Amino acid sequence: MEKHELVIVGGSAGGVQAAMCAQKHHDLTDIVVIRPEVKAMIPCGIPYIYGTLGEVDKNILPDTLLGEAKLKIGEVVSINSKQNSVTLENNEVIGYNKLILATGSNPVQPPIPGIDKNNVWLIRKHPDYLQALASAMDNASHIVVIGGGFIGVEFADECRKRGHDITVVEQLEHCLQLVCNEELCVRAEDALKDRGVKVLTGNTAKSIGGDGKVEFVELNDGSKIECDLVIIGIGVVPNTKLAADSGMEIGPTRGIKVDEFQRTTISGIFAVGDCAEKYSFYNNEPVALRLASEATREGKIAAANIYQPQWRNIGAIGVFSTVVGKTAIAMAGLTDTQAEKLGYDIVTGEAQAASKHPGTMPDAEPMRVSLTFNRRSGALLGGSACCTMTAGEVNNIMAAAIVNRMTMEQVALFPIGTHPFLTASPLAYQLSDAASDALHKAKR
Ligand SMILES: Cc1cc2nc3c(=O)[nH]c(=O)nc-3n(C[C@H](O)[C@H](O)[C@H](O)COP(=O)(O)OP(=O)(O)OC[C@H]3O[C@@H](n4cnc5c(N)ncnc54)[C@H](O)[C@@H]3O)c2cc1C
Repeated sequence: MEKHELVIVGGSAGGVQAAMCAQKHHDLTDIVVIRPEVKAMIPCGIPYIYGTLGEVDKNILPDTLLGEAKLKIGEVVSINSKQNSVTLENNEVIGYNKLILATGSNPVQPPIPGIDKNNVWLIRKHPDYLQALASAMDNASHIVVIGGGFIGVEFADECRKRGHDITVVEQLEHCLQLVCNEELCVRAEDALKDRGVKVLTGNTAKSIGGDGKVEFVELNDGSKIECDLVIIGIGVVPNTKLAADSGMEIGPTRGIKVDEFQRTTISGIFAVGDCAEKYSFYNNEPVALRLASEATREGKIAAANIYQPQWRNIGAIGVFSTVVGKTAIAMAGLTDTQAEKLGYDIVTGEAQAASKHPGTMPDAEPMRVSLTFNRRSGALLGGSACCTMTAGEVNNIMAAAIVNRMTMEQVALFPIGTHPFLTASPLAYQLSDAASDALHKAKR
């Protein structure tokens, strides 16, 4: 049996990042990454295949990222943790000294009657499947997207770019409600409507009808939406079969149980990304936050820790961003509702100003920032930014401030650099102004 220093199962965000970090951190070159896909997708780019990019082949995760790690195409069907080996579907056995599981997640398949009809699609991260979806879309005109989370919203927006008639069905009161404050949800919905997407919130898909092929989606209120293609994007379920079959403990949100060093309950085996359990930065409770940014962070942590615990996972806060048309929506940490549910007494600050200065600069757009603080300790709990394309990076600054527990005063006064082409004016810098707003409200 061939034995390798590090074997990584899964070659997407978490697995590739772990391979990259193991090389940098330990100068390790005897690494094997195993995945079934000949070409792996960039998961976050999947919706953009259908509008902006136009082809599956423009959304390939480059294997050059793997550096000196060897790529093995295959599916691991079992782990023998006593012999330190994994077995592939063709019975090939590969030995490991250390093993990282990055087996990701699969789309949730809701028990909607009619889900098995022809032209009902889930969002799988496999290039052949996504290519087949592209071909199916070429022959479709009316599409229903079930689920108004960020995947559903992005698909709706991108499919609209191809000229399809699109309806989004979301059972909650708002699209994006699980991750954004209400104001941002409404902005996203308005942006979708402005682009001609029909948004039906507070309603559930009860059944999918048609003679073999989908012809309509029936909603809970009895209405029917005629369509010739349905996309379902209502979340993911961690892919933990391998881990569970080999005796690893599974956590309450159905991820592989890991400690703060990404170690599973079996010695020498780590888990990262969508397949691994996540714990909240705020209270260490399990949370179902499955994002590529989390997967890569955990990939780095696990790779650094393979020989001894070095890097600690401080927990997940959830950092999301998306775009509808030209409206960028970004949110880091807790929404106000989530913060209140966790028992925080909150104070929020807001600021809006042009993204460049003066506001007459080319491409200057109004950018709005909202920050939510713990009134007692002053620490930043969450924040949101919209509506310019720079919102994504502002959001990442907020995430850094949250995990460093920066206070209202510290955010209001932290040093900034400004330039007319690049940022807001120092006299109207949205992040520090939103913190000042909160500070004044808290003092009142
Ligand atoms: C449409 C869409 C858009 C998204 N957009 C964003 C975004 O904008 N930002 C963001 O942060 N997140 C986004 N996400 C979430 C993100 O895609 C996931 O969090 C991320 O892919 C998780 O990476 P992973 O490596 O843990 O797992 P996955 O990407 O699920 O990859 C798992 C890998 O393991 C392989 N594998 C599984 N089982 C085996 C086995 N037995 N043997 C060998 N290999 C195996 C799979 O084939 C795959 O290669 C999006 C998700 C989707 C579906």
